[in-house]
Order: sequence, then structure tokens, then C-alpha cells
Amino acid sequence: MEQTKFILNEQEMPTSWYNVQADLPEPLPPLRHPVTKEPTILPPPLFPASLNEQEHSKERYIEIPEEVQNIYRMWRPTILHRAHRLEKALDTPAKIFYKYEGTSPAGSHKLNTAVAQAYYGKQAGAKRLATETGAGQWGSALSMGCAFMGLECKVYMVKVSYYQKPYRRVLMETFGATVVPSPSTETEIGRRILAEDPESTGSLGIAISEAVEDAAGRDDTFYSLGSVLNHVLMHQTIIGQEAKKQMEKADAYPDIIVGCIGGGSNFAGMFLPFVPDKLKGQKVQIVCVEPEACPTVTKGPYAWDYGDVAGMAPIARMYTLGHAFVPPPVHAGGLRYHGMAPIVCHLVKLGLIEARAEHQVAVFKSAVDFARAEGIIPAPEPAHAIKVVIDEALKCKESGEKKTILLALSGHGHFDLAAYDEYLSGNLKDYEFPKEKMEAALAQLPEVPA
Ligand SMILES: *Cc1c(COP(=O)(O)O)cnc(C)c1O
Repeated sequence: MEQTKFILNEQEMPTSWYNVQADLPEPLPPLRHPVTKEPTILPPPLFPASLNEQEHSKERYIEIPEEVQNIYRMWRPTILHRAHRLEKALDTPAKIFYKYEGTSPAGSHKLNTAVAQAYYGKQAGAKRLATETGAGQWGSALSMGCAFMGLECKVYMVKVSYYQKPYRRVLMETFGATVVPSPSTETEIGRRILAEDPESTGSLGIAISEAVEDAAGRDDTFYSLGSVLNHVLMHQTIIGQEAKKQMEKADAYPDIIVGCIGGGSNFAGMFLPFVPDKLKGQKVQIVCVEPEACPTVTKGPYAWDYGDVAGMAPIARMYTLGHAFVPPPVHAGGLRYHGMAPIVCHLVKLGLIEARAEHQVAVFKSAVDFARAEGIIPAPEPAHAIKVVIDEALKCKESGEKKTILLALSGHGHFDLAAYDEYLSGNLKDYEFPKEKMEAALAQLPEVPA
């Protein structure tokens, strides 16, 4: 009998997060203040002290609070699948495994950090969290996290998505969140933008500014970010720690680990627990996949840049297309960020991990092939990683190599069927990377003293 699912029981769920900062061969460059350009921490009125501590911690393991563990157990450990049917369809000697985070009630990995952030916010006395959301995935996860912890949640949702993706809004409202289209009349920055352009459809940059203004102006509210920051990546390491145990049960070790990177959190959560093995000499190739239309790591320089569009967030050392870069409207909304998690960038720079870029039409073809074999409709973001997994499996078919491939499947695509519709009807198109736009945006990078 061929085993298809590798399952951990609830008692086998890891009880700590793994902090790669304990093992980095060179320390991460510190964040810089957006105005003074001096090394800085996360702005204290916006983040609880506990999360700031995690952001800079060098402890190898940080215990997951029991209340967070209990909520994780509602859907964790998630299953590690062996993709026997996809292997057969591709006629490859490669072994393909995938770790599926789409079974969380939010439909993606994002709930792993949303629950933790709501917990630490509540511990620090908050009554409410404020955040922004683009397509609605992060807003959905934080709404649930807040509902589980008894906090209010305010979501500034990019106006164009608010009207185009009503189901995401309803999902958030079902969990008790208050969702407003951004720019809104509820913040000074929103009112200013509406006064200048009443028809503004909004942007993630504007929505961030609104959420930050909201949290900065109230004692009872923290701001919450769904990716990029060190503590967010750490909260996701439960994924890779589970996967390691499950691969052991499968009596296998990955030759290649593949995942998609938007801000870097889901894939870092998968591969970071494998980094100590690699530092000890274990052979494992780690491949990050991004859209060709927003190729931050493959085409951008390693530079200092603001985390947000408005230039109000701390400055990080990262691969960037420039904070003023507006990527083409590819369907993988979660991969349209100008920068990348500093931890991911640092590891690329150290040569421990690598990056590739893919076009969306080929990505959707791979997603459909995957769906027809495995019965799961992937979100457009991890579909980028599926494209690379299929390419690698086909290379094995040619060479006869029996590589073991591990895929991070970060979420399902049930709210992305309009994108599938466009692909299936032949109307989906690729966007060439607008290099001139990147060059213009790079001219606006901040100057940071050495
Ligand atoms: C948000 C999202 C991503 C991209 O964010 P990362 O921080 O890079 O993980 C990827 N996949 C899914 C399903 C998402 O919702």
C-alpha cells in the first residue's frame, strides 16, 4: 500500500517556535528609523513589547503560549501529503510531498501568526487590533485571531478589493471585524486623500497608513502586520518543524524545498527549521518563487528601503524594487510587495537559499494540473511554487534522478475562482516586468549612513 498522508497527532505538535537568529552565521542588519536613519526597534506605540522582544531575540526556541497552542490544535498539525497522483500524471521518478496550510479555518498559513499576535496584543492590555488588507487574506486571518482572543478588529481594506471581493469582507464581518474601504473618512490621511481624489480606489500603502494612524492615535489598539517581520516568520516555523517530523515518518529528507514568497512568511516558516541542517553540511536546495511581474529578489538590488509606500515604516536592508514601485495587477495579490522579509534576503545574500521568477499563465496551468491530480485548488500564490515543483519533477524524468521534493502549499484558492475563470477562458495574460518603473522607484531609495 502506498502511504499518502503523514499525520502527527495533537500531542506531537511542536510547542516552541524556532528562531533562526540564534543560528545565523552573520547577524541581521538592524532596522533603521525612517527619519533619523539610526538603528531602531519596532515603534512601541504600535507593537506590544513582547513582539518587539521576539523581533530581536537570539533565543533558539521560544515557547508557544498554551492558549495559542490550544487554538492551533483546532486545525494543527496540518497534514503532509505525498503527491502520488501528480507524480503519476507527470510520469516522474521524483517523490513529491506537500504540506498543506489551506485546512486552517482562514484557508491559509496566515492564521498561525494572527492568533499569536492577537494573544500578545491582549496580554499587553489591548482591546482592539488595526490592520490593512489587500485581497483580504490577512484581514480574514486577523479577524479570526481576534475573535478567538475576544478582541475587536478593524480592517482597512483597499477600496478596489472591497468592492471586487465582497465574500472576503463578509467572511471578516462574520468573525466580528469592522471593515472599511480605504481610503476612508475615518482617518486624517484617508480624508486628505479623498479630498484630493474622491474617486481614489486605494492602495495597500494608503491602507497601511490608515491602520497605523488608527493604532497610533488610540491607547487600546495595536497595529498588526501579516508578513515580513522577524516575529511573523518565527510564528510560521511551526509549519517546517511539523514537516521535518512528518518527513521522518515518511523515511525521507528533501533534496529540494520549494515555496512562494510575497513578504516571505509562509515559505520561511517551512524552510527555516531546515537551515541548521544545511549549516551543518546537509545537502538541501531551497528555492523561493516570486512572480515575474514583481521579481523582488531576482531583479531588485540588495539595498536599504522603507517597508511601506509612504516612507513612514522603518527602513530595512532587503532586496527591493523601490517602495514607490507599483507592481502590475497579477492575480497573486499576496506576492505584490516591493520588498521582502529581511531574514529571507539575508539568507539569499549568504548563499543559503535561491530565488526564481515565473509568469502567471504558466503558473495557472501548473495549478490546474495540480488540482486535477490532487483535488486541491491552490491559491494563486503557492501556484507559483507548484510551477517550479513540476519543472523539477520533469527534469528528474529526463535525468532519471529520484529527487525528493517538498512543497509549501500555503493556502487554497476558493476565493480566487475569478482568476481561474480568466485562465480557463483564455483571457489571462502575462505582464512583462516594468524595468523602467523599478529604475524610477530605485532613484527614491533613502540614503542610510554606514
Ligand atoms: C499572503 C499569502 C502569501 C504571501 O505571503 P508570505 O508572507 O510570503 O507567505 C502566500 N500564500 C498565501 C496563501 C497567502 O495568503
